Amino acid sequence: MCAIRDDHRMYRLNGKRAFITAAGQGIGRAIAERFVDEGAFVTATDINAAALNDLAASYSGNLATARLDVTDRASVFAAIADAGELDILVNCAGWVHNGDVLTATDDEWQFGFDLNCRSTFWTMQAALPSMRARHTGSIINIASVASSLKGVPGRFIYSATKAAVIGMTKAAAADYVAEGIRVNAICPGTVDSPSWRARVVSQAAAANVEEDEMRASFVGRQPMGRVGTTAEIAQLAVYLASDESSFTTGQAHVIDGGWNM
Ligand code: NAD
Repeated sequence: MCAIRDDHRMYRLNGKRAFITAAGQGIGRAIAERFVDEGAFVTATDINAAALNDLAASYSGNLATARLDVTDRASVFAAIADAGELDILVNCAGWVHNGDVLTATDDEWQFGFDLNCRSTFWTMQAALPSMRARHTGSIINIASVASSLKGVPGRFIYSATKAAVIGMTKAAAADYVAEGIRVNAICPGTVDSPSWRARVVSQAAAANVEEDEMRASFVGRQPMGRVGTTAEIAQLAVYLASDESSFTTGQAHVIDGGWNM
């Protein structure tokens, strides 16, 4: 429940312990920062140690960092065991493959499913026993509108992986709905993150157009006339992690500025 501290502000995640993958930059980092701001103790993990060091330099006390490659099963289980009894698990690690069915390779397919899906299978498998024992837990899987929800050109492998994330979310939610555990997916549209900026550059080069033109093509598909911010996604994550969302589970929560209406 929300708690009131001396400053009389409501802390929506007070006393909760959270574990986040891919928290070094982008959406994962924004979620880590908002969770700490809301009173959670956060274990922020990422494959990029330098990014974690940068995050740790801004936050002390309620944040621990640990380098973690989510494609390494033993490391995933060890990191979650080290993090203690979790109330919140956020699976944010993901990789965007750019290409269609004819250009996709077997190696890209395998890598996409290892990073975007199998990691989530493992983190949930590692975190759920303690959540079940304590009859509490909120698991948040970062999927995408590009999934089973919307066909997006050039996102063949990516959409398949994110549809699988939604499927895992719903199946796990159904399995543990009577045990105090909620499992939800967040499905962002286009969000201004470091990897999105890199995609603008690489897709502009591949299409032989100016970066501004490629950026405008992303923005042009947004009815609001802009892409989202990582902070906007983090706000939804706070809601889903908190007890305010106690009556929602098994849902794919779309947050995309009206791209998919
Ligand atoms: P990003 O792509 O900019 O950053 C990704 C982070 O993942 C990096 O810090 C990177 O070091 C880390 N990472 C990469 N491989 C890893 C591994 N093997 N183990 C652990 N960490 C690893 O972040 P983003 O764009 O905010 O995307 C975050 C999530 O949101 C992804 O799952 C992505 O698919 C999803 N998403 C993003 C957008 C968007 O437009 N940015 C839209 C929909 C969904």
